[in-house]
Amino acid sequence: MDCLPKYGPSARRKSTGVLIGDRMVGGDSPILVQSMTNTDTADVDATVEQVAALARAGSEVVRITVNNAEAAAAVPLIRDQLERRGVTVPLVGDFHFNGHRLLSQHPACAEALAKLRINPGNVGKGARRDEQFATMIEFACRYNKPVRIGVNWGSLDQELLARMMDENAGRERPQEAAVVMREALVASALESARQAESLGLGHDRIVLSCKVSGVQDLIAVYRDLAARCDYPLHLGLTEAGMGSKGIVASTAAMAVLLQEGIGDTIRVSLTPEPGGDRTREVIVAQEILQTMGLRSFTPLVIACPGCGRTTSTVFQELADRIQGYLRAQMPVWRDRYPGVENMHVAVMGCVVNGPGESKHANIGISLPGSGETPVAPVFVDGVKTVTLKGGNIAEEFQRIVDDYVRTRYGAAPDAATAQAGAAATRV
Ligand code: SF4
Repeated sequence: MDCLPKYGPSARRKSTGVLIGDRMVGGDSPILVQSMTNTDTADVDATVEQVAALARAGSEVVRITVNNAEAAAAVPLIRDQLERRGVTVPLVGDFHFNGHRLLSQHPACAEALAKLRINPGNVGKGARRDEQFATMIEFACRYNKPVRIGVNWGSLDQELLARMMDENAGRERPQEAAVVMREALVASALESARQAESLGLGHDRIVLSCKVSGVQDLIAVYRDLAARCDYPLHLGLTEAGMGSKGIVASTAAMAVLLQEGIGDTIRVSLTPEPGGDRTREVIVAQEILQTMGLRSFTPLVIACPGCGRTTSTVFQELADRIQGYLRAQMPVWRDRYPGVENMHVAVMGCVVNGPGESKHANIGISLPGSGETPVAPVFVDGVKTVTLKGGNIAEEFQRIVDDYVRTRYGAAPDAATAQAGAAATRV
């Protein structure tokens, strides 16, 4: 049996738990989904609207940029408006070159945030770098806020990189430049964390990230980082790109690390299409975790790809409709029907694989392929319960899904069993 490949993710890497607002990152807590707004933070209404949408979609931490005085002044107003709407998602402030000044001039901004993100490559140069970094850490300590030390290869500390490149050049066997660059990213994160602790920030108040835009680089950097510290790690491929490229690259990189037990929070940094929906990055992040079996967020729709047997669009339309419907119900279902997020619904294009796949799902439907009798058998918990036909198959199937959710996840188990039994008699 030893020759069988290992199945399932490795044990999660042990990290120190860090409290961010009311959510724990790392430790024994589940891997969290994060996102970031792309509104002008100074535009309070637009930012509140987008944070609320991201939280509704399932983002468990939302980052907003704090890039100028207007943005810093807006942060407490944003927090306040969110609270009044019942949106409690923790807000993280993203600080770069002028963070030390903004926090000094707008202490209410620090107070309203649940975490500060500091990029050590963008906090100043030379002696001023240490001074400005120290100011930001002092604010974090004063307001008891955790800090993510977020290194990014696009803004890596150039003095540190130059020093390490020089040291490397002097070695008998110099490493490739890419290896030194990766080492510089990790060294920048670890050195900044050490510095933050020496300034009084608790070990359990630090999260690290080292983002790069190459899949193999990200895997190598995080493996190294994970082996050298026990801080919780925020994973993400920076500048992942647009559409399918961004999704594939992020998934390829993060799936390898998550499978190895590395990563305590994730973000999928997608470039939205013009006018596109920012919540897409939340949905993709959830789908990465759910399809890997690491967390459940929303019922999964299993659909076949279709082929020459599905010459009409009925099958695609039903799969799309059910997927959209299930996701739209989740804000209400999540509390009302605990466990519904684990439900599987199969929507199949014909009877070749349809009944088989449907039997494995909680509910499944096989639409008629071209040339087949125009009927759609439905399976509930592995049993064929009804055969739908006519022009209202989509509506009737949605009703069956609703009934199933109510009886299986909203009622006592014996009532659910009775309902399933009653349904079976309708074949
Ligand atoms: S289930 Fe039927 S329609 Fe779907 S891919 Fe297989 S053969 Fe084609």
